[in-house]
Amino acid sequence: MKIEDLYRDIIMEHYKNPRNKGLLENDKYKKVNLLNPSCGDDVTIQVLAEDKKIKDIRHDGHGCSICCSSASVMSETLINKTTEEAQNIIDEYMVMLTGKEYNKNILKGEAIAYTGVSKFPARIRCASIAWKAMEEALSEAQND
Ligand code: ZN
Repeated sequence: MKIEDLYRDIIMEHYKNPRNKGLLENDKYKKVNLLNPSCGDDVTIQVLAEDKKIKDIRHDGHGCSICCSSASVMSETLINKTTEEAQNIIDEYMVMLTGKEYNKNILKGEAIAYTGVSKFPARIRCASIAWKAMEEALSEAQND
């Protein structure tokens, strides 16, 4: 089995069985919606942060497999992290998507399944939109 196949399995698994999917009616959550018109991706992220810690992340929307699966992977990667840790992980994820050397001590686990996306510039927005929405929701949470 090639490493690319392994990564594809992770992406398809999260696409078919997304974790933390579905939004909640709860004013304590910060909510951000982002669109990717070129692909038709539509992602909404909800985050609950308390005491500088991410207690919960929810996501919903529709789009391609890269977009929808990455929202699921992002939620699992960042729940229970501090807001500072989460921001550092988001930063390294963005570095990885540009194909540059990223910090493997900070960004690890299933999120690295998207490393190959850097070879397909048209898909970078697909892989980053959920993470960008998360970053915006996080900064809103920190401004409270
Ligand atoms: Zn897409």
